[in-house]
Amino acid sequence: VKCIGVLTSGGDAPGMNAAIRAVARTCLNKGIEVYGVRLGYKGLHEGKFMKFDRHSTRNIINNGGTILKSARFPEFKDPEIRKEAIEQMKKVGMEALVVIGGDGSYNGALKLTEMGVNCIGLPGTIDNDIPDTDFTIGFDTALNTIVEALDRLRDTSSSHQRCTILEVMGRRCGDLAINAGIAAGAELVITSDTGYDEDKIIERLKQSKASDKDHAIVVITEHITDVNELAKKVEAATGFETRANVLGHLQRGGRPTARDRVLASRMGVKAVELLEEGKGGLCVGEVHGQITAFSITEVLSHKHVADAGIYEDAKKLR
Ligand code: ADP
Repeated sequence: VKCIGVLTSGGDAPGMNAAIRAVARTCLNKGIEVYGVRLGYKGLHEGKFMKFDRHSTRNIINNGGTILKSARFPEFKDPEIRKEAIEQMKKVGMEALVVIGGDGSYNGALKLTEMGVNCIGLPGTIDNDIPDTDFTIGFDTALNTIVEALDRLRDTSSSHQRCTILEVMGRRCGDLAINAGIAAGAELVITSDTGYDEDKIIERLKQSKASDKDHAIVVITEHITDVNELAKKVEAATGFETRANVLGHLQRGGRPTARDRVLASRMGVKAVELLEEGKGGLCVGEVHGQITAFSITEVLSHKHVADAGIYEDAKKLR
């Protein structure tokens, strides 16, 4: 392969820049031409390409967000639009593509591969909701951001003897919530893995109030319930003064942790090596510390599952 493109797509995640840099550097060190594609598949379709040299990815490994920007572009599901994108790639001699994003982006990468352009997917999302990888790029940074927020909430929650409910991101995936809950010593964690049972939640919080705890922290994944309504119900039923907080997009920004930078860098190297071997339709995962390639078709047919014992362990810690 003589020329590769790299793009970021879907929701942004800290560490995406480290992955872009790794793809660029690995290419240049191998004498492969490399282009950054701005604005995800939208930019691919519009030919928004910038040729990278050694300086293009200077001073970005430590920055959150993505220098290539991201965009949603549902039109990419249309095969005609994808054909036009491939024409744009041909104009500059771009033969293959590294796509950094979530499962939606993986779908686009798979479709392009089926049309003759080798693509490799890297898991870029804070949610950790991609199967066949222990961690996604951005998860560790977002987790640390949440834990810092919970530490701050704990101070005020304890001073005022309140119950504090914090809603965190994750889409349908509870990994951010359960890991943050353990790290910050939460009383209760509610995710799609635990299920949502208001009576049980209230019972649990009544028990902790009765056992002389002066405050309680509850961590809950987004899209489960309206946390302000839940706070009202908890307050009425338990006597705990209760406040709900939604952390929101704060979780998506910030300097990537060392862990995310290393993961992104190693995955970027792997992506280029796979393209060099003439492979496509694959995505990269880290499993038991090993950087490994999987078929996108298979990964998309799997479901991400939380680490088996983590919820049981959390219960033993409260
Ligand atoms: P994420 O990659 O974070 O899951 P999205 O689901 O929004 O985010 O997908 C990102 C982009 O990938 C979409 O805006 C679209 O351009 C492209 N995409 C998603 N699904 C498909 C598909 N089935 N076929 C082709 N392209 C797709």
